[in-house]
Amino acid sequence: MTNTSPSELAMVPFVSVDNMMQLIHRIGIEDMLSGIAAYIEEDFKRWELFDKTPRVAAHSKEGVIELMPTSDGTTYGFKYVNGHPKNTKEGLQTVTAFGLLADVYTGYPVLLTEMTVLTALRTAATSAVVAKHLAPANARTMAMIGNGAQSEFQALAMKVICGIDTLRLYDTDPAATAKLMRNLQGLGMTLHPCKTAEEAVQGAQIITTCTADKQNATVLNDNMVGAGIHINAIGGDCPGKTELQADILKRADVFVEYPPQTRIEGEIQNMPEDFPVTEMWKVIRGEEKGRTSDRQITLFDGVGFATEDFSALRYIRDQLEGTGLFQQLDLLADPDDPRDLFGMVLRATPAQKGAA
Ligand code: NAD
Repeated sequence: MTNTSPSELAMVPFVSVDNMMQLIHRIGIEDMLSGIAAYIEEDFKRWELFDKTPRVAAHSKEGVIELMPTSDGTTYGFKYVNGHPKNTKEGLQTVTAFGLLADVYTGYPVLLTEMTVLTALRTAATSAVVAKHLAPANARTMAMIGNGAQSEFQALAMKVICGIDTLRLYDTDPAATAKLMRNLQGLGMTLHPCKTAEEAVQGAQIITTCTADKQNATVLNDNMVGAGIHINAIGGDCPGKTELQADILKRADVFVEYPPQTRIEGEIQNMPEDFPVTEMWKVIRGEEKGRTSDRQITLFDGVGFATEDFSALRYIRDQLEGTGLFQQLDLLADPDDPRDLFGMVLRATPAQKGAA
């Protein structure tokens, strides 16, 4: 306890996991996916305003911990995120995250939030925004390979934004597919569990690969990809962690978020440094072509970029007012005299010994 009460400016709204879930129920998950998608599209359209850098990654044998910063000059944001494919075997999430928005003028944080759930929403919204521009217009069926934590979010975003109504499901662990089928029951999609990835891609116009394995895996091989398909490859997002046989990339037109990061982390890490790619923001702005023919194979080599988290954080900040779904955190020291930080510490009332 202290005898100074922090000013309103120094209190930081914090959205816990519980409050994030309440917010999703209040807004409705489908509306929230559409809302986040709109913010992502808006920020892709003002691409040049953003500070951009490949994310800062700390690799270990087990996984990776990453920081993803960006700023549009007025607002700054970052996300802390991990990727540990071995975690689920220990009852832990592969991906967890939290993030922050700050005011560039004062440098003061204006929002701190859980981002494990929010990352699943923003990754799904990004996939669907991209698919809206690249997938065949008549796409109704998606193969979903990898039925883990991200998968239902991916499916719902593709339903809401691209009109996907049928899912063909495959996971090396049938329990993951069973979980997905339970969760999406009654949400307006026809679900077909499949025994192999080959079976799952039959008749699909979109193939999403969203697996977690710390190796250069071959989740999809070249024979499985027919003309006209859109591939939404989002599970390969780290050096040495990819999902596609490289031959697919040679036949496809490859679309990416931010090339300097994707060349390190995406499927194209297995290709020469000058391998041609198209940046999605240019397609979204109409400056580059997306899909140009019925037979073209389009491939979104999605690794997740900081601006997408920034968009999701902005969306959450804009929804919070009047909901009460946050706590005010006493996160910033705020002495009455800004230079008297030490005096503020001296004047603080010490807690009773032994008091919790
Ligand atoms: P998860 O561990 O919950 O699920 C992964 C699923 O993939 C598991 O059910 C596993 O059994 C399955 N799997 C593993 N190898 C497979 C294979 N060869 N064929 C079929 N299924 C296989 O993980 P998650 O949170 O759903 O994340 C999935 C992947 O997406 C991770 O690699 C993660 O790093 C990545 N990811 C990417 C982004 C992005 O923006 N691109 C965002 C979030 C997560």
